[in-house]
Amino acid sequence: MEISIPKEALCLLKQLNDQGWEAYLVGGCVRDCVLGLTPDDWDITTSALPHQIKSALSGMRILDTGLKHGTVTAILDGKAFEITTYRRDGVYLDHRRPEQVSFTHSLKEDLARRDFTMNAMAYHPTYGIVDVFGGLDDLSHKTIRCVGIPAKRLQEDALRILRALRFASKLGFSIESTTAHAILKYKELLSVIAAERLQNELKKLLCGPYCATVFREFSGICFELFPEISPMLECQQNHPYHIYSVWEHTLHALEAIEPQLLLRLAMLFHDSGKPFTKTTDENGIDHFRGHAQHSVRVANNILHRLKFDRHTHEQTLKLIQYHDLPLTPTLPWVKRQLNRFGPETFLQLLSIHRADILAQHPSLKHRLAIVEQCRGLMEQILEQQQCFSLRHLAVNGHDLLSYGIPAGKQIGQILHQLLEAVIHGSCSNTKEDLLQYLCDHFQ
Ligand code: ATP
Ligand code: MG
Repeated sequence: MEISIPKEALCLLKQLNDQGWEAYLVGGCVRDCVLGLTPDDWDITTSALPHQIKSALSGMRILDTGLKHGTVTAILDGKAFEITTYRRDGVYLDHRRPEQVSFTHSLKEDLARRDFTMNAMAYHPTYGIVDVFGGLDDLSHKTIRCVGIPAKRLQEDALRILRALRFASKLGFSIESTTAHAILKYKELLSVIAAERLQNELKKLLCGPYCATVFREFSGICFELFPEISPMLECQQNHPYHIYSVWEHTLHALEAIEPQLLLRLAMLFHDSGKPFTKTTDENGIDHFRGHAQHSVRVANNILHRLKFDRHTHEQTLKLIQYHDLPLTPTLPWVKRQLNRFGPETFLQLLSIHRADILAQHPSLKHRLAIVEQCRGLMEQILEQQQCFSLRHLAVNGHDLLSYGIPAGKQIGQILHQLLEAVIHGSCSNTKEDLLQYLCDHFQ
């Protein structure tokens, strides 16, 4: 099988080979090429030690990105290529990292330390694919399988549990049964993994097209990471709007929403407060009043624990807080929301509404039309640059001062009232009309 390799990577392999070193492309790039996908990055593994790599590539820009682990990064035409010395990992004492790594001359040993068979293949343009652990066979059967004994490999580095799930979520592969058993058996070891590493894999897991399927099959892993949301699993919703439990509804909503991190995070947690607010009325109908606020609290804990950046954290909470904001498809209402949330967040809220509806009782599908109406109105407002915020208003504070309104709080209040008059349609957005409106209403 021939793989088309970027010329920069070919050049690196050739330079290393010319100095007598073995050098191969390895890991994710080989897997993705076999699958016909475009790799994110091209990693190289070589028999050369870091100083030997540097001398073979002298004249190129080389960064010491992980010398201890044998990794340097070559920058060619602005693209980064990681080059790592063949390595075997020492003993793992803490389920996270090997105590020490040692370099080796054996490509096979380097491949043996890798996580899954599909990630443990190397490629050289002359020798083709090196596949010692049956990666090609597993790829063709869409199977994720640990290299070696799963129980041992997952205990060495528990992050591999989450990596297996994220590859399943991205590729739609199934996890081979011994590997799957070990994943469930050793799930508690996830607690020793640093938040940053968890977060990194979790983001990719959440944004995969098969995320909901993976969470359904491995809900135990999801609840291991987020015990706060486990009550959703048993929380039934006896309500005419619903046909699913809260957890099953969440999975359907995750499936329906676009694969963007903020949307997926908000969807995963949007109803997590429901189990804490459930009441049942005299007719046996369940209600979840104020659940959005509880969901915000649950998500806040989790996002904090996983050390999400401030923007992701705050934005996710905002989407959860307003996920059930009642929609009114009129121009003034949409303008008020654009003023309140900004176009980007309002659009995200509409996406959340849409996914939420798609995961409810089919008889509610007609509500999708309301979401689309709001989206259409928003597009119209933005396209026609209609006024929805003080920034667009044809008068500002200075105009009011010149008009004779005394400086102070009142200026702001009047500006907001003028904006509301424009949004409402009772005054057009020209300086002349606004000052006339002011004269008529505020004297
Ligand atoms: P992606 O395309 O998402 O980057 P990838 O397979 O390249 O996927 P990386 O995290 O970039 O994933 O890792 C590169 C390679 O390093 C993997 O293909 C695998 O061979 C190896 N690897 C990474 N993390 C681990 C780990 N925790 N345990 C064992 N091998 C690992
Ligand atoms: Mg990679």
